[in-house]
Amino acid sequence: MVEAVQVHKSFGRVEVLRGIDLTVMPGEVACVIGPSGSGKSTFLRCINHLERIDAGAMRVDGELIGYREAGGRLHELRESEVARQRRDIGMVFQRFNLFPHKTAAENVMEAPRTVRREPRRAARERAMALLDRVGLSDKYDSYPAQLSGGQQQRVAIARALAMQPRLMLFDEPTSALDPELVGEVLDVMRGLAGEGMTMVVVTHEMGFAREVGDTLVFMDEGRIVEAGQPRDVLGNPQHERTQAFLSKVL
Ligand code: ATP
Ligand code: MG
Repeated sequence: MVEAVQVHKSFGRVEVLRGIDLTVMPGEVACVIGPSGSGKSTFLRCINHLERIDAGAMRVDGELIGYREAGGRLHELRESEVARQRRDIGMVFQRFNLFPHKTAAENVMEAPRTVRREPRRAARERAMALLDRVGLSDKYDSYPAQLSGGQQQRVAIARALAMQPRLMLFDEPTSALDPELVGEVLDVMRGLAGEGMTMVVVTHEMGFAREVGDTLVFMDEGRIVEAGQPRDVLGNPQHERTQAFLSKVL
């Protein structure tokens, strides 16, 4: 579960997040839409403390992210503690960021091997099972350059799942893909949602948001302008800015 309470974030003098409140219940999928520069990626990065928030609180499963409270004050966590928190939060970016000199299976095994010191055999078996799950049973030993963008993105999802996260963050996971490859990645994400994974997904795929999202959040200029059930937000947007945005993308 994700709880953002009055999250503020500035870069220099520019306030990019101006008080974000959002709760994503366990097993729910929240989709985030909004114009370029509205703060979607920044918000996502605040959830796992890739960006430190300036005010407010971010909690995942009740645990404060990036900080601890002591004596009525917040103290930033040490890097090792932040790393521990991040292990439970999988993240998938627009660019797949696979290790180019490692095979699909080796990419998936990397974190379990280095972070958890899993034995090679066990890690490889789990990697193969994860690659099966994303439909890549025949690609264990392929290098990223030998895979299509959609296949690479599915490896990236398998890699994020290898640490058995309790939350998955997706930042426009299909935006860099050729149109005919988008579906296979969305299918994997739909499957994950069906298995009860808690997910926050920044996306322009309105069909996915409508079908899979429990909540659709529209952000603009660092604020949540409107949030609700996807069919309501898409079908009957309340705010003028939401209407203007949707009229451009739908
Ligand atoms: P897009 O749809 O283009 O991905 P976004 O909604 O994800 O946009 P963000 O990437 O969160 O938007 O950026 C929000 C604002 O914060 C932008 O004005 C951006 O230039 C600024 N910004 C983001 N990261 C940094 C940074 N590291 N340093 C300075 N400014 C930043
Ligand atoms: Mg972005």
